[in-house]
Amino acid sequence: MALGTASTRTDRARTVRDLLASGKRSYSFEFAAPKTEKGERTLWNAIRRIEAVAPTFVSVTYGAGGTSREGTVRATERIATDTTLTPVAHLTAVNHSLADLRNIIGQYADAGIRNMLALRGDPPGDPMGEWVRHPEGVTYAAELVRLIKESGDFCVGVAAFPEMHPRSEDWDQDVAHFVDKCRAGADFAITQMFFYPEDYLRLRDRVAAAGCSTPIIPEIMPVTNVRQIERFAQLSNAAFPPELADRIVAVKDDPAAVRSIGIEYATELCARLTAEDVPGLHFITLNHSTATLEIYENLGLHQRP
Ligand code: FAD
Repeated sequence: MALGTASTRTDRARTVRDLLASGKRSYSFEFAAPKTEKGERTLWNAIRRIEAVAPTFVSVTYGAGGTSREGTVRATERIATDTTLTPVAHLTAVNHSLADLRNIIGQYADAGIRNMLALRGDPPGDPMGEWVRHPEGVTYAAELVRLIKESGDFCVGVAAFPEMHPRSEDWDQDVAHFVDKCRAGADFAITQMFFYPEDYLRLRDRVAAAGCSTPIIPEIMPVTNVRQIERFAQLSNAAFPPELADRIVAVKDDPAAVRSIGIEYATELCARLTAEDVPGLHFITLNHSTATLEIYENLGLHQRP
């Protein structure tokens, strides 16, 4: 697959499915909906800097419990209308009835948004707590994929888990449920963050062996401070490489050195994945653009098309 960064203004209303099918590797960035006015300014600074490198698409997360529902919808709509970027709106099933979900999907459609990431979401407060379906809602992401697909001409992405979803009993079950989401109509998938390329590659092989060819985009999260080591493990269940933790802890009083090790590790992970012909790379920004743009530059991608 040829390297290529280009999305142009005409790509804006295009779908991730078409952008992936064009044969160029996708480069994309994830933002979180802001909770405060200050957060909103930080987010928009990051969006404008990312816009300058013309990524394939950007996505905006949807808070657990719907707490940032309005923030997500507003930020995603503004990306669609005020920037040259192609937005992907995350949507979760947590605490939403079918009527709520249809209403949000309608708002996205009205703003010209054609791409959505369909997620079940985690219980608010405790990600491993009991998942309680809204009495008039859906239980699994596959149902949300069907609902979005029935609602209009949308391109839908789903989540994939290189280290298996923590609620899955075994790999066979995990892969079977992932394939169900694809058969329900998902056009692409984005993984949970991970630190060992082999975890992604094994998942890709397992899904292919199950007869499913939906493109799976790996998600990259650079570690930029010591506190993140524990936080990432809690949030994602991703195995944190002990050798990376040791290197970071050894320079823990030097924030620039910690950041530099995290960026170097993420750059190497991206290079390895690129060599394995992944369909794209999806960078978590935490609404700060500098670390991810540095990786982008290290990979030789930091130029306007
Ligand atoms: P599902 O695909 O429904 O799977 C959940 C569990 O149920 C799995 O163990 C699966 O194997 C099992 N399962 C599926 N179908 C069946 C079935 N028919 N019978 C029995 N078991 C079944 N969370 C947010 O709150 N907001 C976000 O914006 C957000 N963005 C994310 C972005 C990415 C790229 C990723 C990877 C995750 C994101 N998450 C987000 C977290 C996600 O919501 C959680 O990880 C959630 O626990 C799983 O969601 P899912 O869509 O994979 O669920």
